[in-house]
Amino acid sequence: MMLLPDWYFVIVAGLFGAALGSFLNVCVYRWPADLSVISPRSRCGGCGQPIAWYDNIPVLSWLALRARCRHCGSRISPQYPLVELGVAGLWAIAAWQAGSLLEAVRVASFLTILLGIALTDARDMVIPDQFTIPGTALGICFAAFPGAPSVLTGAGGAVLGYLLLWAVKLAAEKALGKPALGVGDIHMMALVGAFTGPLGVLLTLLIGSVLGLVLGVPAMWVRGRLAPLQTYLPLGLFLALGAAVTVIWGPALVGWYVRTML
Ligand SMILES: [Zn+2]
Repeated sequence: MMLLPDWYFVIVAGLFGAALGSFLNVCVYRWPADLSVISPRSRCGGCGQPIAWYDNIPVLSWLALRARCRHCGSRISPQYPLVELGVAGLWAIAAWQAGSLLEAVRVASFLTILLGIALTDARDMVIPDQFTIPGTALGICFAAFPGAPSVLTGAGGAVLGYLLLWAVKLAAEKALGKPALGVGDIHMMALVGAFTGPLGVLLTLLIGSVLGLVLGVPAMWVRGRLAPLQTYLPLGLFLALGAAVTVIWGPALVGWYVRTML
């Protein structure tokens, strides 16, 4: 079995990522509205014409069509090619950097799901269960393979993420006297725990809260809507950023912390 990726492996991973990014676009647009991602086929938002396969090739079709529908000329959002390029990049970099094929697929799958969550939370203020529940199961399955955190670590992380966020929700609601934190955030932290273990849950919450405070709160303040916090701050977006940092640099961060403290 080929363990170390060469350039061919990196290109194949990038092409797979581009196709997966195309599917992720469909999920991001349809799941917040609870629509199926299988049927109907993709259609133009302007004229309703089904999109032919040759107009649906990641990135290239958008460029060839100059961001306009072939039939009615209405604009096609740059979010489509950007997400396709982004996921292609994630998979190519994972294939290039990871120590094994399994680790590349595990990390790239997790980062792809996190990107989907960040986009739906930022656009529609919702974290679809379609990402988090199968994602949690996937994380625990990956943990069963050698080289990944053990199944016990994955399952323990999922349980900790779930319970911890429920505790935060109850405490916040008691303090604020109104609903706080969506169920989507709770399911999301179970997903993060399944992929990164109990320590990853803590690290994600720490990094996510710091990023939310440093980036999110000033952004809200600038927009002049510092109203009920949980209504406007897309917490899932910052937790996704925290989880991405954790899965990529977590071991290095923990190592640095231990060396500095001891
Ligand atoms: Zn059209």
